[in-house]
Amino acid sequence: MKCPYCHHGDTQVIDTRISEEGDTIRRRRRCASCDKRFTTYERIELAMPVIVKKNGSRSEYESSKLRASLMLALRKRPVSAEAVDTAIQRIEEKLLASGEREVVSGHLGELVMRELKRLDKIAYIRFASVYKSFEDVSEFVEAIQEVKKK
Ligand SMILES: [Zn+2]
Repeated sequence: MKCPYCHHGDTQVIDTRISEEGDTIRRRRRCASCDKRFTTYERIELAMPVIVKKNGSRSEYESSKLRASLMLALRKRPVSAEAVDTAIQRIEEKLLASGEREVVSGHLGELVMRELKRLDKIAYIRFASVYKSFEDVSEFVEAIQEVKKK
C-alpha cells in the first residue's frame, strides 16, 4: 500500500477494524517514511469459516451460538453487554483474519477462552470446565492457579 502523501511504498498497519455491518475492514496505516497516518477501507470478500466439530461434522458459523455460550458462562457476572460485543467482534475478526475456509471447533474454543479470561475469571473457569470436560478437582485447581498467575 502506497502512502497517499509521499508515495512511499512501505506503510504499516496500526489498527484493523471490521465495520458494524461486518462488510468492510477499516485499516489505520502509518507511513514509514513521512509518518503520516491514513485509513483504507476494504470490502470483505471472505465468508466466516465453516466450523469442523470433533466428530468431523461441519456447521455454519453462527454468531448467535457464540453469544449464547459466552452468555451462559457469564451468567450473573458483572460484565457489560458492550464488553461481550467487543469480545465477540474480536473472535470474529480473528476467524476472518485467519483466511481459513474451515476451522476446528477446538480452535474456536481456545479463542473463546482467551476472551473470557480477559473478561471474567469465574466465567473463564466455568467455560473451561465444561469445554475441557474437567474430570476431577485437580483440574479445577490447576485452571484456577493458571488464572491467578496473571
Ligand atoms: Zn508518506
